Amino acid sequence: MLKLPVYLDYNATTPVDPRVLETMLPYFSEYFGNAASRTHAYGWEADEAVEYARSQAAQLVGAEVKELIFTSGATEAVNLAIKGVLEMYASKGNHVVTCATEHKAVLDTCKHAEKNGASVTYLPVNNEGLIDLQQLEAAITGETVLIAIMYANNETGVVQPIAEIGAIARRHGVLFFTDATQAVGKIPVDVNRDNIDILAFSAHKFYGPKGVGGLFVRRKNPRVKITAQLDGGGHERGIRSGTLNVPGIVGLGKACELCRLEMEEDSRQVRILRDKLEEALLQLPDTFLNGSPEQRLPHVCNISFSNVESSVLMMGFGKNIAVSSGSACTSATMEPSYVLKALGLSDEMAYSSLRFSLGRFTTEEQVNYAIDQVKQGISQLRIPLNH
Ligand SMILES: *Cc1c(COP(=O)(O)O)cnc(C)c1O
Repeated sequence: MLKLPVYLDYNATTPVDPRVLETMLPYFSEYFGNAASRTHAYGWEADEAVEYARSQAAQLVGAEVKELIFTSGATEAVNLAIKGVLEMYASKGNHVVTCATEHKAVLDTCKHAEKNGASVTYLPVNNEGLIDLQQLEAAITGETVLIAIMYANNETGVVQPIAEIGAIARRHGVLFFTDATQAVGKIPVDVNRDNIDILAFSAHKFYGPKGVGGLFVRRKNPRVKITAQLDGGGHERGIRSGTLNVPGIVGLGKACELCRLEMEEDSRQVRILRDKLEEALLQLPDTFLNGSPEQRLPHVCNISFSNVESSVLMMGFGKNIAVSSGSACTSATMEPSYVLKALGLSDEMAYSSLRFSLGRFTTEEQVNYAIDQVKQGISQLRIPLNH
């Protein structure tokens, strides 16, 4: 029996992998020590587990163990990166180059920085959701301290030309930060290949627990320094004070290891299912794929169904399939997605879009069911009923 609703919203969050949960459990009550307790075995055990998780995470993104800082998630990591760089490099300049389709964690942090006197350039994207590298390079001034461009977009799955962006940043002596929350664990990410200086990620987007994530901060070529945003006990090399979430970090580490070992096979399988779903839905008339068909994650598709409002469509099958209309973070307010608008969609086409994001536990049966549900919903809405 198919469990309903069928979950096709893996970009909002993923279930914890049972193997991750199993690894975490002893750290709630058996090995419950504070990783900062240096005077007894409870603390040593917790610290050892944290350092093991740090090495698992470092391996996934090609970093050195000492270059990873644990945080409460990507939102905190993004705040720490942008605010921390602006503060640390204030004497060098106060200009940031980012992009219109970034997650709110980045955009709202940039807005906050602007209120405090920073200047921010928001690069546009083309109709495939990609930034223009020449425009990026032209936006850099003598005041620029940071380029903040996401690895992969949460709404469309579009993957930016990260290595090229990193090369431009390096050439101009500007730091490059990427919000890689949707990419880490899904596609190969390598901070050295891609010239990334700072990178944010979050465990709950790749089968780890919620409320734990991390920030990669490069330690050589160049050595990046960021100003702490929380004052306290000086944990995490003084960059992020606060008692570590040991079970969460252990889960993050295990989730990283599983992704590293299984990414290739996972993405091969999920791509087949995504393509099947996408091909079936794009056969419907007046249906369009949003974002680059090539430069994107293997498990996401964002589709507009013209003349059908996705919120109305979801009233039909909302109890049967769990998908997202636009970003999960903006769907509370009924605004058309700013990401899709940046790709040039009209309000109407943005309102008629659905994001399908599949994952490790998606089955062919679930995909077939979703195709049926969407087709039924569309035909009911598009063809006027005869009474
Ligand atoms: C989910 C997400 C975030 C926020 O991550 P949290 O760990 O939930 O704070 C930031 N950026 C992107 C691209 C995301 O998908």
